[in-house]
Amino acid sequence: MTTATQYDVLERANSHELRDRLRDKVLRLKRERNAYIVAHNYQNYEVQEVADILGDSLALSKAAIGVGADVIVFCGVDFMAESAKILNPEKTVILPVREADCPMALMANAERVRAAKAQYPDAAVVCYVNSSAEVKAESDIACTSANAVQVVKSLPHKRVLFVPDKNLGHYVQRFCPEKEIILWQGFCTTHIRVTAKDVLDTKAKHPGAPFIAHPECPPEVIDLADHVCSTSGFGPYIQRSSARTFIIGTEVGMIYKLKKDHPDRRFIMPTEQFVCQTMKMTTLGWVAHALETLEHKIEIPEPVRSRAEQCLRRMMAVTHDHPNAVIASY
Ligand code: SF4
Repeated sequence: MTTATQYDVLERANSHELRDRLRDKVLRLKRERNAYIVAHNYQNYEVQEVADILGDSLALSKAAIGVGADVIVFCGVDFMAESAKILNPEKTVILPVREADCPMALMANAERVRAAKAQYPDAAVVCYVNSSAEVKAESDIACTSANAVQVVKSLPHKRVLFVPDKNLGHYVQRFCPEKEIILWQGFCTTHIRVTAKDVLDTKAKHPGAPFIAHPECPPEVIDLADHVCSTSGFGPYIQRSSARTFIIGTEVGMIYKLKKDHPDRRFIMPTEQFVCQTMKMTTLGWVAHALETLEHKIEIPEPVRSRAEQCLRRMMAVTHDHPNAVIASY
């Protein structure tokens, strides 16, 4: 396990003054290291505030183009930092907290994917970016939640083995009736916690408030959604809508950005359970520690990295993303 740092002690003191000093230290170290800080929308708000770029896969995709940075500090979970390293092998990519992994990504591994490929030899293997480098290396093409339907439709195969998120795979199947999608039995341990009853009760309390759901939610929850999108789709939908109150069907970290971007709107969570514990492990203290020590560097064996890169680049070719993009999220 990673041990506590002096910065954690400062953060626990919950003093604004100490917090400000810590933030100043992060910003100074960032300059000294020529580092670029990338943060996912689900990160703690104080980490979001020091990031050079905040967002989901599309926004983060611009991050690793690098602006000449020597170091990328990836404030998210392990598969995101791995994707950054896969596409930028010459750069130092740091994940501040070694234990910040994605429980869903851990639900698939290379050995099990190889066994499934032997069982379904005619199927194309599509992996959600929320998967390890070794799973990407075994897959034909990657996808994000924003482009999964487009990626699956682009394939000539009738059969698709969709790894690891069964809920995203189920959602894709709704739009691809011409395909037979074989679902891996993985799921997001955060999005699985919202129930249809949670949504119905919240809708009853806030009549007329649109419910926006991330496609990692279970199918019966998706059925109740007014709009389904990746984290990048929440803002544009809210901007277009005349509603004043919205029910937010994704991780609670998203609320910070939505409130900042849309101060005149109100955002309601359908459940208090929408917290990804591993996304919340990265604190400002750990970002400072990462910049000071350059821990923990992402290393991927070259044969795995190069095959995983092909998997990501095939997706980018379908969706016309920038060739240097970091596909980091969902
Ligand atoms: S929110 Fe879900 S998919 Fe995202 S890191 Fe957490 S467990 Fe993984």
